[in-house]
Amino acid sequence: MSALQDAYRDYRDELLSAGLLISMGVDGLYGRSGTFERIVEGINIAFSRVGDPDKPDVMRFPPGIGKWQLEQSGYLKSSPQLVGTIHSFAGDDRDHRAMLETLEKGGDWTAGQKTTQVALAPAACYGVYPAVAARGPMPASGALVDCYTYCFRHEPSIDPARMQMFRQREHVRLGTEEQALTFRKLWMERGQAVIKSLGLPFEVDVANDPFFGRTGRLLATSQREEALKFELLVPITSTESPTACVSFNYHRDLFGRGWGITTSTGDVAHTACVGFGVERITLALLKHHGLSVEHWPKQVRDVLGY
Ligand code: ZN
Repeated sequence: MSALQDAYRDYRDELLSAGLLISMGVDGLYGRSGTFERIVEGINIAFSRVGDPDKPDVMRFPPGIGKWQLEQSGYLKSSPQLVGTIHSFAGDDRDHRAMLETLEKGGDWTAGQKTTQVALAPAACYGVYPAVAARGPMPASGALVDCYTYCFRHEPSIDPARMQMFRQREHVRLGTEEQALTFRKLWMERGQAVIKSLGLPFEVDVANDPFFGRTGRLLATSQREEALKFELLVPITSTESPTACVSFNYHRDLFGRGWGITTSTGDVAHTACVGFGVERITLALLKHHGLSVEHWPKQVRDVLGY
């Protein structure tokens, strides 16, 4: 384990000293350089080249979702340990003075902070379900949405590939069970083709989300048994512990029921999504092809639109 921690630290330090990531003094929270962002943009170009011909609805949400959306999503039941909520000062002059005094003494100045109506998005697709639900019953063709946003998960780590704030580029399919499963099968092929075209080694495996607690272990087991989640794994800092860079998820009717999303026949919708972890793919590219993008294989640069 310690060798793995060393490998994480070494790669992170390498990225920081090359200026690709910018330290913010918190594990898992980084600024990105122009070079880093251009690679991220290239991954989005590669994703769009494959996905745009399907003419998805494009939805872009801020990194925050409504607290009510978080509550209704079911995420608090399955993964409370990863949740981020936005708090703000809501006192008067006296409370403000007290807060500054506490701050001065190095105490916990956050004690008087109150939750706002905003939480942080745990996944890019969380804004999509309520938006599609609000439209009413879907047409027979269902819905297909392209979304991309910063997500937050509270899991501080020195592994540069486990950031607390990172972006996911997703396509989300909503429709019948058959439409959702067909979509996932298609993207499992497409996802592998994209990563292969980037010259990265990978494997695809059945996976489970990091659900919380005893109930979480049951959820995780059934998720694996029913093969609801697959991940495309790329070795970044370790071949024994490769990193999930793309995930292919079938939610059955979980979000359909949660949000009241219905098909044209009035049935509860099934949903599926494919998510590209753009920072993780960027880190995999830098690891495998080196920190100087100008020396990357021409074919890889072509895919990224350089
Ligand atoms: Zn998703």
